Amino acid sequence: MSSGVKYVFVTGGVTSSLGKGIVAASLAKLLQARGYRVTIQKFDPYLNIDPGTLNPYEHGECYVTDDGAETDLDLGHYERFLNIPTSQANNVTTGRIYNTVITKERQGAFLGKTVQVIPHITDEIKRNITLLGETGEFDIIITEIGGCVGDIESLPFVEAVRQLRWDLGPNNSLVVHLTLVPYLKSAGELKTKPTQHSVKQLSESGIQPDILVCRTEHPLPIEIRKKVAQFCNVQINSVIEAMDAETIYDVPLLMRKEKLDERVISKLKLPTKGEPVLDSWKEFLGKLKNPIDEVNIGLVGKYVELKDAYKSIVEAFIHAGAVNECKVNLKWISSESLNDETISQVLKSLDGVLVAPGFGERGIEGKINAIKFVRENKIPFFGICLGMQCAVVEFARNVLHLKEAASFEMNPDTPYPVIDIMADQKDLTMKGGTMRLGAYPCELKKGTKAFSIYGKNKISERHRHRYEFNNQYLAQFEAGGMIASGLNPDSGLVEMVEIKDHPWFIGAQFHPELKSTVLNPHPLFVKFIKAARDYSKK
Ligand code: GLN
Repeated sequence: MSSGVKYVFVTGGVTSSLGKGIVAASLAKLLQARGYRVTIQKFDPYLNIDPGTLNPYEHGECYVTDDGAETDLDLGHYERFLNIPTSQANNVTTGRIYNTVITKERQGAFLGKTVQVIPHITDEIKRNITLLGETGEFDIIITEIGGCVGDIESLPFVEAVRQLRWDLGPNNSLVVHLTLVPYLKSAGELKTKPTQHSVKQLSESGIQPDILVCRTEHPLPIEIRKKVAQFCNVQINSVIEAMDAETIYDVPLLMRKEKLDERVISKLKLPTKGEPVLDSWKEFLGKLKNPIDEVNIGLVGKYVELKDAYKSIVEAFIHAGAVNECKVNLKWISSESLNDETISQVLKSLDGVLVAPGFGERGIEGKINAIKFVRENKIPFFGICLGMQCAVVEFARNVLHLKEAASFEMNPDTPYPVIDIMADQKDLTMKGGTMRLGAYPCELKKGTKAFSIYGKNKISERHRHRYEFNNQYLAQFEAGGMIASGLNPDSGLVEMVEIKDHPWFIGAQFHPELKSTVLNPHPLFVKFIKAARDYSKK
């Protein structure tokens, strides 16, 4: 069935959190840098249709694509590494697979037949795996299988991969298995047994991996590589060492050194192309690692115990820091800890404050307090989504003297719903996939800070929220000094606000962090860091 498209499957064993997403993205980067057209997709074994309804504590950040899909945070890494957009097709869950099959069953698509995991579920998985391959846009599709081999819920995916490899025929697919080679301090040794067991488990499901990527804290000596190769049935040059890296952006270069891309190219019998061109990537790394300045940025949020909840924001700061040759020290601040007594102590030494996106009431007053402080003390401020909404509420209360102003989300009975629910949202009862999601156009007003930052007036940014600036109050806000610098040209919704009389006070209803990549750092983050650096020098 091969249409010339090659498939690489990335599985994981021993434990979760080994960084399959980063290894997949790094391999993709190397192949892309050689001139192949590559994309990556992730198949997640859980039953939610998508991660949109999950608390960030469960699964980290929910990453949103241009087409409005709520997806796994690994898609963020794919975009940041490859600099090409992903879509709904790049992230599929077990829930989505079952939903399709069961809907078809109700429609009578399988009349007369017993609907079963094999073949119906595995067929649907296979259909989804090959979707992007059929677009003609890619030479290589890398598919990351979430979870660990051996997990009950991963079994249908592993079986689908087994079948698909047979369907595709020789040299058209390969399996990269990511494992752990732990170092036992007491024994002073690297241990290969967990890797052996993990490969055995995968083999029992009918899949012999072609390449093993071994996460390790210490270099793998040749004897260990030999042992892994012999007991796991792979060639010795297919045992790839993946040492802990200083930054995830080093991983493509580490994988290059280990020749992961060469192994993949030779095993897939891909037409040879030149060496990978990684000049701009290396230039980025050079700047990242040799900063001239440094700034302290407060990230005020309510999920700060779990850094993955704000993954794209953290990465966008890394990109923006590198552009400015400025180290960004992120200070994680729990919004619940910010009250009248603590606020000045916590915020006064910062060069900039970002108030993060979020949902629900917890920690809201802390965010509003933080914004009052940075507005009055002229500290650079950047509010994203809920962060912008809090800035609007703060301005209403403390500048426009609408004391009980609130967002409808936090207080539906407020006399001043400066952030409100839209008519088309009011009667919705279904929670999944019903927010304002994905890319929307925005027009920036000439003469605003936003306009000068982007350097153009038509932009497109990604959204994920239910509530909006209430335009009934717009004239009052603008008269008071907070202006709408960006508007949706179709609906007139306020997408950006800024305060005239402040060195850098910007709120965005959208999520700029989702579009920041290594090669295209987001201008709002770049200029925010620049403003923080200027502030720090004052
Ligand atoms: N809770 C807010 C809303 O739904 C903001 C969402 C967000 O920050 N992503 O509108």
